[in-house]
Amino acid sequence: MVCSVGRMKRDIDTLASRQHDVLVIGGGIHGAAILREAALIGLSAALVEQHDFASSTSSNSLKIIHGGLRYLQQADVPRLLESVRERRFFLSRAPHLVAPLPCIMPTRGLGLYSAPALGAAFLINDILSCNRNANVPPSRRIPPGRLVPKRRALEILPGISSAGVTGGAIWHDALAYDTERLVVGVVRSATEASATACNYVKALRPLAKNGRITGIVARDMISCREFEIAARLVINTAPITLAGFLGSSPVRIAPPSCGWALMMNLVLRRQVISGYAAGLYSRRGRLLFFVPWRNRTIVGTSCSWVEGNPEDVRVTDAAVDELLADVREAYPGADIAREDIAMIHAGLVPASKPRRPGAEPAVARHFRLLDHSRLDGIEGLISVIGVKLTTARNVAEHVMRLAAAKLGKTLPRLDSSSKALPGGDTGDPEVFFAAAKTRMPPSMPAAAVEHLLRCYGTEWDSVIKTSDSDPSLLNPLSGQSEIIGAQAIFAVREEMAMTLSDVVFRRTGLGTTGLDDRQAVTACAAAIGKELKWSEERMREEAARLSADPFNR
Ligand SMILES: Cc1cc2nc3c(=O)[nH]c(=O)nc-3n(C[C@H](O)[C@H](O)[C@H](O)COP(=O)(O)OP(=O)(O)OC[C@H]3O[C@@H](n4cnc5c(N)ncnc54)[C@H](O)[C@@H]3O)c2cc1C
Repeated sequence: MVCSVGRMKRDIDTLASRQHDVLVIGGGIHGAAILREAALIGLSAALVEQHDFASSTSSNSLKIIHGGLRYLQQADVPRLLESVRERRFFLSRAPHLVAPLPCIMPTRGLGLYSAPALGAAFLINDILSCNRNANVPPSRRIPPGRLVPKRRALEILPGISSAGVTGGAIWHDALAYDTERLVVGVVRSATEASATACNYVKALRPLAKNGRITGIVARDMISCREFEIAARLVINTAPITLAGFLGSSPVRIAPPSCGWALMMNLVLRRQVISGYAAGLYSRRGRLLFFVPWRNRTIVGTSCSWVEGNPEDVRVTDAAVDELLADVREAYPGADIAREDIAMIHAGLVPASKPRRPGAEPAVARHFRLLDHSRLDGIEGLISVIGVKLTTARNVAEHVMRLAAAKLGKTLPRLDSSSKALPGGDTGDPEVFFAAAKTRMPPSMPAAAVEHLLRCYGTEWDSVIKTSDSDPSLLNPLSGQSEIIGAQAIFAVREEMAMTLSDVVFRRTGLGTTGLDDRQAVTACAAAIGKELKWSEERMREEAARLSADPFNR
């Protein structure tokens, strides 16, 4: 059965046999966005990802698509405007996956978080972001910020410590329902515009000729075959492994000086607050966000300085306990315990070393674009170190301006923010969802229907079609699951999922709330195993390999 969507094909031959204008290393949000930008402006573009797309930092975010309110604190207006623009892109071009998120913070005292200060910040923010809803469908529009009295704040946040609370400040940001699908969607948007993208291909080292980079040596991690990929420009977006990659170059390229912070969130098994994300302080002054997401709460983010090789970093029990203690302090009434933790998000972000031992490092505010012709006198290579998922498309625009100049191309007048991501052409998604629900197979439970629409938008019926030859694929994978078997089949047929882990963590949303539902995981393995003709042993191995470890998912 051939679906109507643009299929993602893992085409190693095309990767190896052509000279590409641009070869992107890394399939996180930055690599994906750069690939899309390059393909949309008509460059021949390719991407290699050593594991699966979105398998590293991009799958560990708090899922907030920031509108930049916090940048007012540093009077960083350009960054605020950039965030507003990029949030608008997601709300209007991927409205099935991204929706407004009401947020509340208790107001206190006379300082930065007092009602007058936050009221003034809202006023300035609303003026600066006056075009935040241009072309955004009605149900995805961001209303102005407002202050509410203490009584209302405590109704929304029952169980917080009320001492010193004077009221509440309410504003809206946006939340991604599924960041992994968002990244895969950006990759697919690029492959639909003729780019080549392959997961499980690792960039081993640069190739050089006459003092310029001419491509890379890569390894197909599935066949273990090594091969060369020729490119006029290599763009490395894999910051954690960047130093090693540059160090293996046949021509000398200095590794960039870059420090790292480990950031971490807890995914809790229950919703401790409904309807709002809450910004609450722990006693030692750490601001934590409690974000309701699916039937869970994501809470974070902690931040600690990384000593030594960033590739060796792992999450320790002590770090989890420390964050949990802060979380309990920040929201005492929620009575959060270790058993509530379904999963941990952790990833590395660029940062500078804290001035005092034990203090939190300062996370980098701006992305870095390293032009190695200027830094090292070596043409053919650019490195990118990104700082936010929200602004990756804008980073990609900057990168493409430099890339086009290097390739001697004139950029066409194209605004990639006007093009919808796959499934995003819904018009107003709530209107679209209501109409689609009347056409759904009647046997599907409401939760499964909702999940299908939020994940696939206009492409929901292509997922349903994969069940034509086996109607049982319309059933949820278990009694509690909102995932249907057809999603797993769609993932391997159309979205380049190669392993059970890809399907569970980065295509269907089955594992991103934790691995509690083992029955659903087993059913998922069986469905994929049948489709891909895996042996019983392979199915068992794939299931045994599944891990919720943030550095090994
Ligand atoms: C806990 C946490 C919470 C966050 N919350 C938010 C948030 O709410 N909102 C927001 O906007 N941002 C947030 N961020 C920041 C955001 O997640 C990151 O800035 C972003 O995901 C980084 O994406 P990237 O593409 O640069 O890196 P990555 O996602 O790490 O992608 C790099 C990719 O390169 C691949 N790679 C590495 N070496 C090679 C090689 N040799 N060959 C091929 N591929 C290779 C890796 O496997 C990886 O997939 C958060 C970050 C963390 C850690």
